[in-house]
Amino acid sequence: MPTLQEKKPARPIRRSHVRPLRELIFGDLWEYDPAPETADPKLKPRYDLFIGGRFVLPATGKYFDSINPANEQKLAELALGGAADVDAAYQAAARAFDSGWGRMPGRERGKFLYRVARLLQDRAREFAVAETMDNGKPIKETRDFDVPMAAAHFFYHAGWADKLDYVAPGRRMAPLGVVGQVIPWNFPLLMLSWKIAPALAVGNCVVIKPATNTSITAVKLAEIFQDAGLPPGVVNVITGPGATGGILMAHPAAAKIAFTGSTEVGKVIMRSVAGSDKRMTMELGGKAANIVFDDAPIDQAVEGIVNGIFFNQGQVCCAGSRLLVHEPVAGLVVAKLKQRLRVLRVGDPLDKNTDVGAIVSRAQLETIQRYLDIGVKEGAEMWQPPCRLPPKGFFMPPTIFTGVTQSHRIAREEIFGPVLSILTFRTIDEAIEKANNTAYGLSAGVWTDKGSRILKMSTELKAGVVWANTFNKFDPASPFGGYKESGFGREGGRQGLLDYGKLI
Ligand code: NAP
Ligand code: MG
Repeated sequence: MPTLQEKKPARPIRRSHVRPLRELIFGDLWEYDPAPETADPKLKPRYDLFIGGRFVLPATGKYFDSINPANEQKLAELALGGAADVDAAYQAAARAFDSGWGRMPGRERGKFLYRVARLLQDRAREFAVAETMDNGKPIKETRDFDVPMAAAHFFYHAGWADKLDYVAPGRRMAPLGVVGQVIPWNFPLLMLSWKIAPALAVGNCVVIKPATNTSITAVKLAEIFQDAGLPPGVVNVITGPGATGGILMAHPAAAKIAFTGSTEVGKVIMRSVAGSDKRMTMELGGKAANIVFDDAPIDQAVEGIVNGIFFNQGQVCCAGSRLLVHEPVAGLVVAKLKQRLRVLRVGDPLDKNTDVGAIVSRAQLETIQRYLDIGVKEGAEMWQPPCRLPPKGFFMPPTIFTGVTQSHRIAREEIFGPVLSILTFRTIDEAIEKANNTAYGLSAGVWTDKGSRILKMSTELKAGVVWANTFNKFDPASPFGGYKESGFGREGGRQGLLDYGKLI
């Protein structure tokens, strides 16, 4: 019998054997069971244009498909509005304004806004599912953020409707007339409420175009307007392409236009209305800096960084897409960040455990991928956690770049995807200079233990919003808007309301 010593040594385990074994034991052990949201989004196969309180056929006779970016399946057909439809919508809005909406006592208008808010709350799960299927963002975001925040904006502005005499001391606030609005795809329902609620509270009527990729919640909200008994023509929804948005913005009947979208398109719109007397607000792009000092609570900061850029797949205008980290803690922050990204769940947006959902469209996914190539070519170091992406749909793992300098395009241009560029700094002045070294100025974040630093940073950072020891927090009472190429005008709060009326 061989003794213990004489036993043949075990064959060394090859590395390729180790990994699947580890994945088998730990990967599946720690993997959550699927937890798909089951609510019915209650979609119709086809939606027409909402003009004058009714759904009407588009004059173009054309429709386009709305796609679920998580599985590339068609969700519904939407009407393709053209110039004649935009014209009809403005006429309906002007009739609604002249026939009494603008003169209605504020307390009466407020009742409609309260009703819309409550109906939205009643149908919250249905709207959250519809938004997730249309946009690709995880259900936990639409359920816990987009839909409740959209309702909150209607509630908040319902409260303003009968208090317009108190907006400015000794002066009264009057509506402007018909307002034209165009919104993007990253917060479809929330942007509808940001635009429509203040306009209606002051007594304006609205013609609005959602983004082609995400028009479902706009037509569903139109159903809520019907259910709320909103007078016909007060809100009109025109679905259709960017060119229709151009016609809507330049229409002579618009007393004011409000646009949220890219800086590039914002500039085109501004050129098209130059010389007219239209009032204008522009909420455009951003390249926010999230600034972490060495005295920051590092674990909370890492959560804030993740929330700042990987929330909503980085498709957030105020996303913290640049991380500026104090040199003494740079190694620690990056190590902890990588550890955190390894456990983020990328996948089915309808699963309640998903952290990172789908990118809104193939075109946007390709844009983001181009930026990854650019980053690598520029010499930055790219890192992605290992993750299994679903076989269909437009998915992208969270990505970080280290070794980034200020001249890199990935540090200067808005990528609008889950991509973080990491730079370092040594002094507070260097942090301020680097954070402000951008064409944009929408938001910034500061992580530090020192109140004095927060005050200095919030004074010197050229950004519309500066979050301290948190990121991506919103409230309807808090004005939001940009500096420089991030646009002008504010949305939310008293300042936002002022942009929708004239003081007399
Ligand atoms: P986008 O291409 O500028 O589109 C925004 C909207 O404008 C869409 O409804 C689009 O229609 C429409 N549009 C396109 N071309 C137009 C034209 N020539 N005239 C009038 N309208 C036109 O932006 P996006 O890619 O949808 O959205 C991402 C951008 O929005 C990012 O830059 C982001 O930073 C910005 N954003 C800013 C804020 C903010 O508050 N500052 C908030 C959210 C997003 P189609 O969809 O049919 O092309
Ligand atoms: Mg879609």
